[in-house]
Amino acid sequence: MSKRFSLSVVISILILLISVFTVKSVYLTAEPAVDTVQAHTKESKATLEGVIHNTGGKNIIRYGFKWGTSQELDEEKILSGTVDVNKPFSTTITGLEEGITYYYRAFAVNAKGTAYGDIKSFTVPVKYNPPPVVTITSPGKKATANDGAKKEQKTITITVKDDLKKTNQVAVSNPATNKIAAAPNRILSTPSRGSSYTNKSKYPRLSKYNGSFEQFYYRDIGGGAIEIDPQWVAENIVTIKLPGLNQYVQVHKNAKDNFIQAFTYIKNGTAIINGRQVPLLSLIKTMDGTFVPRHVNWNSAKGLSNHSWGIAIDINAANHFRYINPNREPDDPNYILWVKAFKPAGFSWGNSYGDAMHYELVK
Ligand SMILES: [Zn+2]
Repeated sequence: MSKRFSLSVVISILILLISVFTVKSVYLTAEPAVDTVQAHTKESKATLEGVIHNTGGKNIIRYGFKWGTSQELDEEKILSGTVDVNKPFSTTITGLEEGITYYYRAFAVNAKGTAYGDIKSFTVPVKYNPPPVVTITSPGKKATANDGAKKEQKTITITVKDDLKKTNQVAVSNPATNKIAAAPNRILSTPSRGSSYTNKSKYPRLSKYNGSFEQFYYRDIGGGAIEIDPQWVAENIVTIKLPGLNQYVQVHKNAKDNFIQAFTYIKNGTAIINGRQVPLLSLIKTMDGTFVPRHVNWNSAKGLSNHSWGIAIDINAANHFRYINPNREPDDPNYILWVKAFKPAGFSWGNSYGDAMHYELVK
């Protein structure tokens, strides 16, 4: 009797212990808690930081960062070593390219699963090489080019095409350096032009170099909005009247012709929808954008939107912040406007990245 009794006590205790252990491992453990912290960039490198707040009651098997040039985060960096809870961990990624936005998130794995911090991003700053300062002295026909590193002086022949003040163009038959030939618009007797003379303490950040639309200094003013160096705005942003719509908009001076071209097609063109011919103009319900200094999606963690350069426009925003499949929606107004007006006028369409309202110039 007493032997049976003690056996059942032992069995009961065992069952109790097993239950406690099971409850603990099933219910009292969880995935780790991890946060993505910040990134510091230096030239082509970036140091990513994350922190594990809680191991979830299990050992951390693996932790590190996922990263890449899109939110797919194709790359992975696994860290080794023991985890200190609430103490940031970091790693450095290398070989990054100027002007490119990278995305990253911290992760940690325990036996319960994998936990991720938020996806964050940073853009590798573009090194700003100031244009050469060229001075031309007429009597000796000498040109001096100084790009800050090298100084060269040569006797040259200059041909002034048209009115110099009006066109800012000078043909140089024997350029002092290749850089001069590559940057004819800089051959001016007014070196105070351009972003290198901006008040950098007020506008400390430099945008990426955006092809013929160049770059500017700016500052963040909250809510994803930015304020651009007013000198750049004064020199580059112009007001035009869009044909057909007859609305005034602000665009980059080098984008002006493309906007007028697109809206001339819209003013004069038609499309067949459901067997009926309709004017292209009737497909535009709303128009927004053009020059709006801001980050992508008004998110200051993202890069600058091309709206900041005055080279993008949003049409029919209400139901077009999405991808349009032309096979399924061949009568979609924004698809028709893309084919008949914006594409022939040199624009690209945001549809490929799920933003069918957005048309922009890339050059
Ligand atoms: Zn847009």
